[in-house]
Amino acid sequence: MNNQLILDQVTVKYGAMAAVSDATFSLAEGEIGCLLGPSGCGKTTLLRAIAGFESVSAGSISLHGEFISTPKHTKAPEDRAVGMVFQDFALFPHLNVNKNIGFGLNNLSGKEKNLRITEMLELVGLASVAERFPHELSGGQRQRIALARALAPNPQILLLDEPFSNLDAELRTQLAAEVRSLLKKNKVTALMVTHDQDEAFAMADKIALLNAGNVVQVDTPYKLYHKPGSLFAADFIGKGAVINVGIDAAGLLGNNLGSLSLNTLPEDFGNTVKLLVRPDDIAYDDTSDTKLEIVSKSFLGPNYLYELALNDGQLVPCLTHSHVDIAVGDELPVQFDLRHVVIFNPD
Ligand code: ATP
Repeated sequence: MNNQLILDQVTVKYGAMAAVSDATFSLAEGEIGCLLGPSGCGKTTLLRAIAGFESVSAGSISLHGEFISTPKHTKAPEDRAVGMVFQDFALFPHLNVNKNIGFGLNNLSGKEKNLRITEMLELVGLASVAERFPHELSGGQRQRIALARALAPNPQILLLDEPFSNLDAELRTQLAAEVRSLLKKNKVTALMVTHDQDEAFAMADKIALLNAGNVVQVDTPYKLYHKPGSLFAADFIGKGAVINVGIDAAGLLGNNLGSLSLNTLPEDFGNTVKLLVRPDDIAYDDTSDTKLEIVSKSFLGPNYLYELALNDGQLVPCLTHSHVDIAVGDELPVQFDLRHVVIFNPD
């Protein structure tokens, strides 16, 4: 598959400060990507550079085989085939839904324009609100109309800047999943910015994780969660604990955690390893002799998330069915499943 969007070693500066350095990332046609990372890491800056609102001071951005940003040339935003959906929806308050969607379609004849508007309204399932004004819509409906407006001119890429953050938590994940299936069905290439990993997991085929202006890992949501390439990624993505554990030459771990197979360990492993333990690496087992003190627990509906203390006091998470309801201060019998733990060098 051809790459639709290519960012090649892109640096974007504000004055002397590089907000994004050396970012490399690409999206194939029809692929949905996500820029994820903590506040201030450069996500919006990168999205704005793709939209043409910021220039690049090094590297290049190309879209559909054409260089649209290089240090020498920045193609104007209005000349890029880019659709944008913003956090605050940015619908025109004085125009009804039909006119909002038709706004960027002035190159079409009246008849073609109306057909396209109807098609877009059907796409987002909101044909019934065509005559309403933005203030007469719910938050979720407004966001769907913003999506319809951005898709109407048939852009080469759709850019979404924190598109769900003004919606309540339940609607956010529901809409993220809905928007994903809509984009996939219509083979739209899209790139979303978010600091919310649940949203990123619900939407993206591929995630670029940023930290302090650098792309630190580009991977599928699954790999980013299960194979984080750095302590930063391990810490930022998902729940889990990074613990220091003693280990002997045969791979036997301290704290009664069991053994690690020697071929999963770095050649020069010393006498301590750092392990990323996810809640699903520790299973409740009422036949087990390994019993850990419950330090805290949170009810998640179908599950409990327990926080357990190892013998040396380090804390690890454990996910159980919510029928396993044991009091804080009591002990939880568990089995460690070390097949998926991620091992880091202690340095
Ligand atoms: P958030 O999740 O909080 O929106 P972000 O990851 O999108 O953050 P950016 O908005 O891209 O981060 O900002 C990256 C860095 O660039 C930050 O240090 C920010 O203060 C700085 N910055 C952003 N816009 C400007 C600007 N117009 N002028 C100067 N510095 C800016």
